[in-house]
Amino acid sequence: MNSLLRYSRQIEVIGRNNQLKLLKSSVLVVGAGGLGSAVIAYLAGAGVGMLGIADGDVVEVHNLDRQIVHAGKVGMIKAESAKIFVKNLNPDVKVVTHGYFNEKLNVEKYDVVVSCVDSIETRHKINRVCFKSKKPLVHAAVSGFEGELMVFDFRNGFRESSPCYRCVYPENVEAQKNSVVSPVAGIVGSLQALETIKLICNYTITRELLRMDFRHMEFIRIKVSKKKGCPICSLF
Ligand SMILES: [Zn+2]
Repeated sequence: MNSLLRYSRQIEVIGRNNQLKLLKSSVLVVGAGGLGSAVIAYLAGAGVGMLGIADGDVVEVHNLDRQIVHAGKVGMIKAESAKIFVKNLNPDVKVVTHGYFNEKLNVEKYDVVVSCVDSIETRHKINRVCFKSKKPLVHAAVSGFEGELMVFDFRNGFRESSPCYRCVYPENVEAQKNSVVSPVAGIVGSLQALETIKLICNYTITRELLRMDFRHMEFIRIKVSKKKGCPICSLF
């Protein structure tokens, strides 16, 4: 492990022990698009020990307005492009790349899973896998000037009472258009990175759905309960 000097400003806030926890932690980021770029950049900068990056897409020129980790890499697979970005930013971080997320992806080696995909179907898949594997899931979505964020905490001691993504969204909900104002993806992705760091360092996290309207700078928190009869999480 390199010197902790790189993290000194952060250590002043979270303390050395929490920094060491981050350096030993591993996080799976599913989707290296607009949200994923901010998550990857800030988790790498903050010193998460291992980042798994799952995205089989190829970088296209219309991604570059918001997908900041892919600058100059049009045509490259996104997971590989993001890996190069991380290595340049912080050589302390180990990166493991995966193709598209599927239910066979082994999430056991990760402490937290961050969902940064725009496919509703994939979000449900990630939810199922995380609930089954007892991994906390940091969900977010963006559209236009708006964003939402929620942590589904499936760790022992929390999963008994935590709702899951399926409790909030039935499976037949229409996908939102993935048009977005570039910084909205950066802001909401940065919030995902922050909640991930709080999970790893055992800070109290918000257990409500955060809805953000950046056009009017309105932020609301909505209480969500476990849904009776939810096919994914109502075993309790
Ligand atoms: Zn549920």
